[in-house]
Amino acid sequence: MTSPRFEEGALIGVLTTQPLDRVLDYRAPKGGCAPGDHVEVPFGPRKVTGVVWGPGAGDYDPAKVRAAIRVLDIPAMRPAMREFLGRVADYTLTPMPAMLRLATRAPGLTDPPGMRKIYRRGHGQPGRMTPARARVLDLLEEHDGLAFMLGELAELAGVGSSVVKGLVASGAVAEEEAPRDVPYPPLDPAMPGKALTGDQAAAAARLREGIEAGRYGTTLLKGVTGSGKTEVYLEAVAACLEQGRQALVLLPEIALTAEFLTRVEARFGAKPAEWHSGVTTTERRRCWKMVAEGGAQLVVGARSALFLPFADLGLIVVDEEHDTSYKQEDGVLYNARDMAVLRASLEKAQVVLASATPSLESWVNARQGKYARVDLESRFGPAVMPEMRAIDMRTEEVPSGAWISPSLKGAVRARLERGEQSLLFLNRRGYAPLTICRACGHQIGCTHCDARMVEHRFLKRLMCHQCGETAPMPETCPNCEVAGKLAAVGPGVERITEEAQALFPDARVTVLSSDLFGSARALKARILEIAEGAADIVVGTQLVAKGHNFPKLTLVGVIDSDLGLQGSDLRAAERTFQLMRQVAGRAGRAEASGTALLQTFQPEHPVIGAILSGDEEGFWSAEAAARRAAGVPPFGRMAGIVISSPDMQAAFDLGNRLARLDAPLRRIGAQVFGPAPAPIARVRGRHRVRLLVKADKAAPLQAALAEWTAQLRLPANLRLAIDIDPQSFL
Ligand code: ADP
Ligand code: ZN
Repeated sequence: MTSPRFEEGALIGVLTTQPLDRVLDYRAPKGGCAPGDHVEVPFGPRKVTGVVWGPGAGDYDPAKVRAAIRVLDIPAMRPAMREFLGRVADYTLTPMPAMLRLATRAPGLTDPPGMRKIYRRGHGQPGRMTPARARVLDLLEEHDGLAFMLGELAELAGVGSSVVKGLVASGAVAEEEAPRDVPYPPLDPAMPGKALTGDQAAAAARLREGIEAGRYGTTLLKGVTGSGKTEVYLEAVAACLEQGRQALVLLPEIALTAEFLTRVEARFGAKPAEWHSGVTTTERRRCWKMVAEGGAQLVVGARSALFLPFADLGLIVVDEEHDTSYKQEDGVLYNARDMAVLRASLEKAQVVLASATPSLESWVNARQGKYARVDLESRFGPAVMPEMRAIDMRTEEVPSGAWISPSLKGAVRARLERGEQSLLFLNRRGYAPLTICRACGHQIGCTHCDARMVEHRFLKRLMCHQCGETAPMPETCPNCEVAGKLAAVGPGVERITEEAQALFPDARVTVLSSDLFGSARALKARILEIAEGAADIVVGTQLVAKGHNFPKLTLVGVIDSDLGLQGSDLRAAERTFQLMRQVAGRAGRAEASGTALLQTFQPEHPVIGAILSGDEEGFWSAEAAARRAAGVPPFGRMAGIVISSPDMQAAFDLGNRLARLDAPLRRIGAQVFGPAPAPIARVRGRHRVRLLVKADKAAPLQAALAEWTAQLRLPANLRLAIDIDPQSFL
């Protein structure tokens, strides 16, 4: 099907990134244009960019319709992508301009293709040959005809850039101008992968089938950490590349990409394109353009990579699919895992959801046959699942101000004696979650939020984990002004580090927490050092639960297994189960077998029981039954409405009015709860009020929500955000 072309002067509808709720009419620019073209258009006194969405609506005074300026020199947005953006907008109740911003979030797309200098072998000979010059020339001859950038060439040859410049002067090396956004080096799917085990080969064959058939399908790839899920989905990537189509691998954490890039390079001979907040702006632009032009076969990225303009997407892998970071909690509130499935269905692509501990949603979808399911039963090689035991804290003698029980201490000592590593896990950053005045009982809170200030002793500051506000640690109580009475209450990882160091003065104790590293790179470097044995005891937050390899680690001690069981979140049990299983999976990845010890005050709690017994299917069945009975996701639908305002009463008034105007919701049989103060009732100085809407699975929830909220005009200063399928109940 060829899209209609609009001749110069024809009326066209252009979607821009300007916050307007409609597509704007323009006239087609000189040379005409077609649907999907990226164009530059006049907007008031400014020029903005947009995408030709279709014919103009023609409901605007024809005399006032202005002409689009030009078609930009980037590939047009494909129909499948336009449909994807529209469907995500409908699902998440997001205005289209915001969707377009998400899809064009690469700097300098309007710039003419930039040039840069590249270097290849020239025809001349150097006046005098030195070992350094010879290395450069050898390298260029070895990579016959390939061009390098200056820094790249100098680094690979192990010379200074002046050596290269000297060779340019004599003509031995040619310096040329080339477009900046060059294709990524080709990946070779025919390179041999690792020899797969029977289980792995069977799993890979199942994934290959769907890819070779060129149809849509989603597969839940479940296997314990270390079972070879990554090996298996790399085979799916190979199959996709063999078909000449593009693949996307989403990872939940940038710190994981470095290890993955190395594995891709080992498997396919070159590194893939990267898309996340840690890459430079020029590299982001290159990635965006090459994805659109087909010059990138594989992209490894964070959730927003899902909105890249793939020319022909054949596979999306969502690694650690249960991870909550796939839910965007700011701006467009989408869940990348769910939207990956939508995008794949529009692209006739396959989705692989990989996890050791899938989300209940995916588990249910697999059980209902919507997703295929492939299991890897055992760990690769001699490693076996760790032995798991509870430490009943009711029977342990732990001094006040300490959290490591004698049993756990003994287990750590045994590891130290054998030269093995231990991990003490606590999902709480900082030194102590609460600072209280022993004179007046005052608790130090954030001045902008209803959250408590968390002491970060390494940074010597108090920090609000809600809004990021920091303040120096006060000498006197801000309330009663008595000095020397402020006391830390409860443990954070920094405090556990202090305790471990005091218990084991000769051990190398280190803490891994995201706030202690300036950059993802520094963090990654530290993780690698630790994996190689640079520490005896690692104290860490959930950061360490995610997919890193620590071959020398044989003991995991969970400081507070009850932490996640408290909250009122409907996913609390599921999260605790996943996190504990993941953390336990860190132990004994190489030859030595591992042990996981869970400190708990409620060893008979069903979630703790399921973790210990390893009866995963049993846990999920029970959890699914409970959710079905309650009519909550994934068996019912929910939406959260958060109204925020600097004035608490105004937010409540609006919430109450909205709750009374619930006719559109009642029509679809949905119920509204609230308004109630949101669990964090004040963030960045804004009071937050929350309503929760619950509906049947089949109810047309979005349309009803749109109609419901449209009944109110929002006064200035009040904001209303709709969160479909809320993940966190904050
Ligand atoms: P997962 O993604 O399930 O955690 P990985 O794919 O990372 O598992 O595999 C764990 C480790 O075992 C990795 O170091 C991987 O290279 C290795 N491994 C897995 N399968 C094989 C295999 N068939 N041959 C050689 N090494 C393997
Ligand atoms: Zn705050």
